[in-house]
Amino acid sequence: MRMDENNVVKSIFWTDAKARLNYSLYGEYVSFDTTYSTNKYNMPFAPIVGVNGHGRTIVFGWSLLEDQKAETFKWLLSTFFEVMGGKKSDVIMTDQDAAMKKAIQELIPEVVRRNCFWHITRNAREHLGTLINKREGFAKDLEYLIYDSFSEEEFKTWWSEMLEKHSLGGNKYLKPMYESRHMWVPVFLRRMFCHFTKSTGRSESTNSNFEDYVHRKDSIEKFLEQYEVFEEEQKVHEDKNRFESTVQKPKCTTMKPIKKQAADIYTRNIYLKFLQQLQFSDAYTVEEIEKDRNYNVVKLMKYPGQEFDRDTFVVEVQHEQNLFDCICAKYQRDGILCCHVLRLLTQLGIHQIPEAYIKERWTTSYFEDTIKKQKMVRLDSEGNQMAKKQSYL
Ligand SMILES: [Zn+2]
Repeated sequence: MRMDENNVVKSIFWTDAKARLNYSLYGEYVSFDTTYSTNKYNMPFAPIVGVNGHGRTIVFGWSLLEDQKAETFKWLLSTFFEVMGGKKSDVIMTDQDAAMKKAIQELIPEVVRRNCFWHITRNAREHLGTLINKREGFAKDLEYLIYDSFSEEEFKTWWSEMLEKHSLGGNKYLKPMYESRHMWVPVFLRRMFCHFTKSTGRSESTNSNFEDYVHRKDSIEKFLEQYEVFEEEQKVHEDKNRFESTVQKPKCTTMKPIKKQAADIYTRNIYLKFLQQLQFSDAYTVEEIEKDRNYNVVKLMKYPGQEFDRDTFVVEVQHEQNLFDCICAKYQRDGILCCHVLRLLTQLGIHQIPEAYIKERWTTSYFEDTIKKQKMVRLDSEGNQMAKKQSYL
């Protein structure tokens, strides 16, 4: 708790042992959002969230803050990292708040800070609403260049073309959006692990989930009560996911070896995502561009749920190292192979996921093994302490 000189509580942060364990396992990426204030005192509610091995949003810590000033955010972040044993995340996703930006820059300048894609697109929809209604085709062009540009050059060219086509050169809202492109446009973040955030938006899902439990007029006591109910229900989901992944293995009905391998290693939710990519891969064919090195994976038909509108995906191969690099960069972003590489593997007669493309955090064994290791370390240090005590006697 942060208190003033009269010992009056101003801000509160809380977490528990389970959230700390989760942070030690999955804390390389956190997402942070203060756009939602929840109680009658108008104290901003700021959950710090991440993603567990099932691809589910989890909460590392909760806070009710006195205000949204940089000093308050600094207190929150430093308290958070201290409680988490000093481990700092590699990537922090935030909304576009300037005070938060300042706090992060001052406290942890080395961290990669990115804006939440969901907030940007929501703000854009709000600000550009009339424009979208007035200018035919503008929304579609904007969406296409945001989602489908695969290189920085492509994004820049398409942006200028869009401005020209719709005569929007002087638009006040589009200019800063373009200037902050490095912070949020997927093409600039392609090589950054973002755990399926492109399609979901992490903070948004936590806040909207939590919104069902609390009302803006709630007192802090009521808020905390509701938080406990929320946590209890989250735990039921987590236990269910763990049970389905460890005890009840997914049923594998076909004889495809790569599918069997995925069922064996991945947690259930990730296995289902992988399976979907495998199904999508049937919609493609392969053309060799440069012998044994460069391939075009070409879409034969559009399909529901396709991530990109374009038809051709270049995959670069290094056979010696067993590396397959697709221009869509799904592996770097989400940690599973894309349908394009999977289609190419079929073509090349490769029936296993190459070692380099198995992300440890998505495997069933990661959670179980790390827990075992942590237990061993703890028992070992307790054993040492016991031995020391005995030697003093
Ligand atoms: Zn791909």
